[in-house]
Amino acid sequence: MSVQPQEQGQATSTPKVERIDTVVIGGGQAGLAMGYHLARLGQRFVILDAGARVGDSWRARWDSLRLFTPARRDGLPGMKYPGRGHAFPTRDELADYLEGYAAHFELPVQCGVRVDALARVGERFLVAAGDRRIEADQVVVATGPFQAPHTPPFARELDPRIVQLHSGHYRNPSQLQDGDVLVVGPGNSGVDIAMELAATGRRVLLSGEHPGHIPIAIEGLSGRLVFPALWFVWTHVLNRNTPIGRRVLPKIAAGHEPLIRTKPKHIEAAGIERVPRTAGIANGRPLLDDGRELDVANVVWATGYRRSLEWIDLPGFDADEEPTEGRGAIASEPGLYAGGLPVSRPAVSQHLRVLKQAGLVVDQAAGNRRIYRIDPDGLARLRADLDRFWDGALSAYKDLVEQREQEHP
Ligand SMILES: Cc1cc2nc3c(=O)[nH]c(=O)nc-3n(C[C@H](O)[C@H](O)[C@H](O)COP(=O)(O)OP(=O)(O)OC[C@H]3O[C@@H](n4cnc5c(N)ncnc54)[C@H](O)[C@@H]3O)c2cc1C
Repeated sequence: MSVQPQEQGQATSTPKVERIDTVVIGGGQAGLAMGYHLARLGQRFVILDAGARVGDSWRARWDSLRLFTPARRDGLPGMKYPGRGHAFPTRDELADYLEGYAAHFELPVQCGVRVDALARVGERFLVAAGDRRIEADQVVVATGPFQAPHTPPFARELDPRIVQLHSGHYRNPSQLQDGDVLVVGPGNSGVDIAMELAATGRRVLLSGEHPGHIPIAIEGLSGRLVFPALWFVWTHVLNRNTPIGRRVLPKIAAGHEPLIRTKPKHIEAAGIERVPRTAGIANGRPLLDDGRELDVANVVWATGYRRSLEWIDLPGFDADEEPTEGRGAIASEPGLYAGGLPVSRPAVSQHLRVLKQAGLVVDQAAGNRRIYRIDPDGLARLRADLDRFWDGALSAYKDLVEQREQEHP
């Protein structure tokens, strides 16, 4: 969509153009963290969010969702997540925390505003939301990586008598009709949903290759001890700045993110049947890689998300290309920043990186006033050392897991 600027004060029925220094688009973790830093710097800014309430992107997930990151890792800058550090918040608890955060710091969040176009007009950006127009010197796109649920195109060939929905629209088992369920996609979301459905006594089939799993109980003592190291790997090592991150991220993007909470033994104990990848539809029914046609009553597509940035009418953001960003700044568009977009997505949880990046983005947006002082040479040396260390450690770990799997198949 393209946006046309209106003359200031032009006599039309639509409102005149508003002016603000910085517009943050999206008020999730990334947008709120940006807001915190911008407010500390005394900037004039607004956060526009499509949801009716702050935290709604979490409230829209399934009812029983519990985070896989412990509370001590779920806080935003300036306000710790309350309660026990090793508790695992529910969906609603996290949403309420985010809402409380925005209120506590009196962040200028405007809810119910979906930005539908962003373009450059001269030196500035023009942000359009319905018939509202805002001109800004700087824009931060913080709309998150989970906006557009993706289902394989062949899903539309499914017999209409089969209930189908994407994991992003799944709330609880009552949405499905009686009968067997095929959950396509054996990642964290698919497995969580499959476990919940199996507990209702249905026959549940889980389609796709096992993506691997973290061999510790994240909620137990081992989790508490090992989680800091895992967190370090997720946030500092498995990102696009490290060779190992560049190797691993495409696998994760392709759905090979290891299971974090659930282990194969839990899946087996729940009576869930593992089946190969779903390759297409035959006679209106799901067709597996091994040629089997499944006679199921329901299909849940836990097949991930695609980025949804078509509304951005700027050169770095065309459909097939990832915008290149350095520390959150989009190289091709001075004044444009990304917070928490897939471009900067680290391996498993992007939460912490989102928050770190928020500081860096605001630092740059504020004309290079330093929030974090980092020596680039020292950082490069540290990264190279860590790369070598993690390359060795991860390959030793892989050998260990393979050996254990051979010993205890
Ligand atoms: C099922 C599931 C479970 C997860 N569990 C965990 C977990 O346990 N721990 C963890 O750390 N992470 C978890 N994550 C990841 C976590 O949700 C993200 O890391 C985090 O939400 C990213 O924050 P964000 O601000 O970038 O995006 P979001 O939280 O998605 O926020 C984006 C915001 O932008 C708004 N928006 C989008 N488009 C527009 C627009 N055009 N105009 C205006 N507003 C717009 C949305 O309304 C939303 O509020 C999970 C993700 C999923 C899908």
